[in-house]
Amino acid sequence: MPVKNRLAELHDDITAWRHDIHEHPEILFETHRTSALVAKKLREFGCDDVVEGIGRTGVVGVIKGNATGSGKVLGLRADMDALPIHEQTGLSYASKTDNAMHACGHDGHTAMLLGAAQYLSETRNFDGTVVVIFQPAEEGGGGGREMCEDGLMERFGIQEVYGMHNWPGQPVGSFAIRPGAFFAATDQFEILIEGLGGHAAKPHETADPTIMGSQIVMGMQTIASRNADPVDQLVVSVTSFETSSKAFNVIPQRVHLKGTVRTMSAEMRVLAEKRIHEICEGTATALGGKAEVVYHRGYPVMVNAEAQTEFAADVAKSISGQCDEAPLVMGGEDFAYLLEERPGAYILVGNGDTAMVHHPEYNFNDDAIPAGCSWWAEIVEQRMPAS
Ligand SMILES: [Zn+2]
Ligand SMILES: [Zn+2]
Repeated sequence: MPVKNRLAELHDDITAWRHDIHEHPEILFETHRTSALVAKKLREFGCDDVVEGIGRTGVVGVIKGNATGSGKVLGLRADMDALPIHEQTGLSYASKTDNAMHACGHDGHTAMLLGAAQYLSETRNFDGTVVVIFQPAEEGGGGGREMCEDGLMERFGIQEVYGMHNWPGQPVGSFAIRPGAFFAATDQFEILIEGLGGHAAKPHETADPTIMGSQIVMGMQTIASRNADPVDQLVVSVTSFETSSKAFNVIPQRVHLKGTVRTMSAEMRVLAEKRIHEICEGTATALGGKAEVVYHRGYPVMVNAEAQTEFAADVAKSISGQCDEAPLVMGGEDFAYLLEERPGAYILVGNGDTAMVHHPEYNFNDDAIPAGCSWWAEIVEQRMPAS
């Protein structure tokens, strides 16, 4: 695999940064230590500009090429946040914080983009400007959205954006990508069902919300199986079912459901929301109670642009010889907000045979660093070639 010599030399440094970040995981927007470390490194590398506090704890570095006559500006994005999981890897550099862990490999993403930033700052062998973007709160907080709302694209004149995620189960250092819809829209719902509680031995004197809730859970399974076109992707999962009774002999007054909807298109998203309302309200009414649905739209569908995806795949091929077609992912990705503002592409880099992301035994694979860093460097040097 052709890896740039300078990046191969930096492998040990990048690995050490990764282990340090791994040991000190920070959740959502609380990436204070990580953001400070990133900003310090970017300044040491000699970036032309380093700006902190975009999207609360987001950090941006600007690196100008030896020439900038092309007028091109590329945004490269990594995420910095960890998850509220208690680490069980037994690593020497395992998390020092209870219930916080880099279980999605964002430690590796941050370290790899730092490595690329160092290389690009040293060599500047391109005609244009690179904007390296380090975002907090990818895991559900919308850090990417907040950076966009803070004017990320306009302020730095970004024209295209690129992102990367490690992928367990994919051979280490290999690449996979797909054009169009790639990661799902992730919505959440809460359903508050109100019945009439009472004695469990006198059900005829109650309006039992557990029956309403049970029929609602089953009824919502027909959204994917009977309302959605079978060739479209739609997931409706109820993940929490709580009643207001803790007793064996009391029919509760209320049931509280929570869950998530995953879709790959605007049509499916609208359909799911509409049917959840109809099924919940209709079922509860038919059984003598009432239901209130609170539907919260989360990350939008993440859509890779055609031209940038083809380019990103070609770059991956130039590094590892091939680039596979990635599967659709029903998980969400905050990079969707950046791709709504600018055309770009998001690629998967193989993490090898490891536990899946979000598992307490997961660990980012340091052997993926040369491929990941090389992809970043080549994206810049091939998209904005020095004349
Ligand atoms: Zn994750
Ligand atoms: Zn992740």
